[in-house]
Order: sequence, then C-alpha cells, then structure tokens
Amino acid sequence: MSAAKAVVAFLVGRPLVAIAIAAVVVGVLVLTQTRKQETPVTHRVQHVGLTDQQQIQLGNQDYAQTLRENRARIVSTGPQYAVVQRVAKRIEAVAARDKPDFVWRVTLLRKNEANAYCLPGGKIVVYTGILPVTRNDSALATVLGHEVAHATAEHAAERIERQHLTRVAAAIVAGGVAFTPRQYVRVAALLGAADTLPFTRSQESEADHIGLIYMARAGYRPRQAVAFWKRMQQASKGKAPPEILSDHPSDEHRIDRIEKWLPEAERAYTPARAD
Ligand SMILES: [Zn+2]
Repeated sequence: MSAAKAVVAFLVGRPLVAIAIAAVVVGVLVLTQTRKQETPVTHRVQHVGLTDQQQIQLGNQDYAQTLRENRARIVSTGPQYAVVQRVAKRIEAVAARDKPDFVWRVTLLRKNEANAYCLPGGKIVVYTGILPVTRNDSALATVLGHEVAHATAEHAAERIERQHLTRVAAAIVAGGVAFTPRQYVRVAALLGAADTLPFTRSQESEADHIGLIYMARAGYRPRQAVAFWKRMQQASKGKAPPEILSDHPSDEHRIDRIEKWLPEAERAYTPARAD
C-alpha cells in the first residue's frame, strides 16, 4: 500500500480526525492576507482579515447563542418593542448603505441594565434597561447609531486581526473544530457583546462620530445626542460602565468631541420621509 493510500485508509476509519484536519486546513488556508479597507464617515484606512461574510457568520453564531440562553427575556410585543423596531429600522437603512451585505436585525431583551450592542455582521441586542435613559426616539437613535457604527467600521474584526486571532476566528466560522476553548473565549470577548469591553478608546470615539452622522442621516436631530450622553453619564454614576460607556464614563471630552462634530452632523441631517 502506498503512503497516500495508507493515509486515506487511516482517515476513512477515523472521520472525526478527518474533520478536525479539514477544519485546521480551512482555518489556515481561508486567510493568509489582511485586506485594506476604509471606515465609513471617518475614512480611516484599516487592516482586517475577516471578510464581510465571515463577520456575519461569527456574529450570527454569537447572536443565536444569546437568543437561546435568553429565550424567556425576549420582548416581542408592546410599546417598548415597537419603539426599538421603529428606530432600528431607520438606523439600519442608513448603515446598510455602507454595508449592503450585512443582515440587520434587532432583538429587545428584558434586562435591567442600560446597555445595547451590535455584533459583527449587523445583529443588534438592546436591553430594556436603557429605555428609561434614552426616553425618546432621537436618543435611542444615538445609542443604535453608536453600536451599529462598531459593526460597519469592522472594529471587532480589526481587534481580532491586531491580536493575531484572525485564523482562529476563521476556523470557528468554518466548522469550529480547530481551536481551543481558551482561544474561543478570546475571540468571543472581542465581538462587542455586552459584559465585555472589547474596543479601544479611539474605536469608541470613532463609533461616536460615525453614529452621530448615522442618526442625522436617519432623520434624527444630532443635537439630541448631547443631552442623551449627559443623562447616560448621570445614570451610570457609581456603577461599572456598560459597553456604551466603555470610553471612560467620567470623560468630559466625549461630549466636547461630539459638540465639535455637530456642524458636520447638521449638514448630514436628512428629514425622515413620512411613512
Ligand atoms: Zn462602543
């Protein structure tokens, strides 16, 4: 028997080993290069390894798990559900111009925590605990604009690349065999889901900037963002900062920066069509 035939015979007898090897090969071959791309609005050149499709799959896996684990908390009727769907629809339509392949969807979870997040590829999760702080559609648009901007600017993929985890992430997407639990946890922590602080300070600032333009393009007055951030800082005094405030809750500069971007955002303001 030739060496090649012996290898095939060995693998046929051991399908799990064959699958594991295939996953390793896919993980290594899928990506050997990063691509250069530009962030929306801020036009920053960035380096990411994961394609849009891989980011969508990675986000979908995390989203499906979150929905499974929180089935009893999903809000699917009533006024809070309606307000989140209404605002998300307008923000998603704007974000889709920058990422037409992403599959946008929002889920409202009953959780007493002022937070929201958007996974790579467009899946959004909002906690009911943020609604008493947002109070109105414009402020909710501020939150959703910020979170969605993390996805369109590929912040998670960028951090995964910087931490040399792109191949691990690609392998997770390809079949989920060629990684250790520890590596999986490291990738999952970079996706931008709640309870983690995955982004850098400059990414947070960039998400503020892009989000402000998005809310204006979606027909919400950008000045409303300033009032919201002040309320948010007030509401989270003395608590551990949620993702939305991970850029230093006491940082007065956040509001200063937002005020500096207001003229640009006012120019981007497009009144919503009556529907
Ligand atoms: Zn953020």
